[in-house]
Amino acid sequence: MNDIAFEPKTPVGGTNIFTIMSKLATEHQAINLGQGFPDFECDEKLIELIAKYLRERKNQYCPMAGLPKLNEVLAAKIQRLYAHTIQPETDICITAGATQALYTAIMAFVRGGDEVIIFEPAYDCYKPQVELAGGQIKPYQLKWPDYSIDWNRVKDMITDKTRMIIINTPHNPSGTVLAREDLQTLEEIVEGTNIIVLSDEVYEHLIYDGEEHQSVMRFPTLFNQSLAVYSFGKTLHATGWKLGYIVGPEHLMSAFKSIHQWNVFCANSFMQFGIADYLSDPNSYEGLPSFFERKRDTMNDLLKDTPLQPKLAKGTYFQAYNYEEISKHDDLEFAKYLTTEIGVAAIPMSPFYSIPPKEKVIRLCFAKKEETIAAAAERLMKLKG
Ligand code: PMP
Ligand code: GLN
Repeated sequence: MNDIAFEPKTPVGGTNIFTIMSKLATEHQAINLGQGFPDFECDEKLIELIAKYLRERKNQYCPMAGLPKLNEVLAAKIQRLYAHTIQPETDICITAGATQALYTAIMAFVRGGDEVIIFEPAYDCYKPQVELAGGQIKPYQLKWPDYSIDWNRVKDMITDKTRMIIINTPHNPSGTVLAREDLQTLEEIVEGTNIIVLSDEVYEHLIYDGEEHQSVMRFPTLFNQSLAVYSFGKTLHATGWKLGYIVGPEHLMSAFKSIHQWNVFCANSFMQFGIADYLSDPNSYEGLPSFFERKRDTMNDLLKDTPLQPKLAKGTYFQAYNYEEISKHDDLEFAKYLTTEIGVAAIPMSPFYSIPPKEKVIRLCFAKKEETIAAAAERLMKLKG
């Protein structure tokens, strides 16, 4: 044996909070309202379509940027939802989930020493992905209960090293959404700079109380320097399928695809056939806001007599709750207590921050059957008094 040291390149280690809490939930037979995934089935029609194409042996590679039929269906969906015309041949790429789309976009544009502004609490993959590219995150801390952005402060954070701003609306984990004015201000801030806006819009259809999703695609000047990321996992209730897509102007998408072809080439083919057929009917996604809004309301109604204080989720399938009234424990300890003693797994907010906030907040997922929400609420009633 010699003493060669195998130094890993990755600057980050550890296990993510979703894995930790799901493992604890399984060990303690807790109802898992932690990691975000539905416990109900996706549409039988979609399963049939995918099975049909598998039976038809659509088993070989499809074009690098995705099945042309699917790219066309998505371009038509974008036109319908955001009144924006994209070219399916050049402006879209099907990916192995949103995580891979984010990773490849960051790899395509962030160089060593570049700065990337993110809004914390931030979805957990942004920071390590930026660091793998050699960049550095510049976190803007959002605060309970509004989690709103003061864009003047963002302007002050911009330096000549700022390469990218990552936004996420509807926002995981706070459940807040950006307004039209937020996007307009962002457009003014980045216009004329070489800053790219990476817009994580995986919850585009999970938006409530009559709000409209503010995609970067609604703002042509902004979109000229943006990439927007989506996940079929969220839209189709199938997180394990790990399929998504990214949309942007051709001059950014060509750089994206030049990386994509060397680390993925193309995503799963037979599922793309099935998804293309399914999403060509707008009924497949139009009912999603009311479907999830009912679940949000059911959970908040059932928990209203507990000391958990909600910040009403305007989007996503996550509801943030402040628990200051009942516990002095930090949020990780409290989430573990809920899982092991009360029997309901939750996600603490602090892993989504560089510097943990002083507010005590946890996140519960309401993408669950009514009976799961009711059973969890019954257990959480034990928190009373
Ligand atoms: N962004 C956000 C905000 C998410 O919540 C998730 C996962 N739930 C992703 C990206 C990753 O999506 P995917 O599972 O398609 O990689
Ligand atoms: N996006 C999911 C959530 O926020 C979890 C994804 C994961 O487990 N990596 O809960």
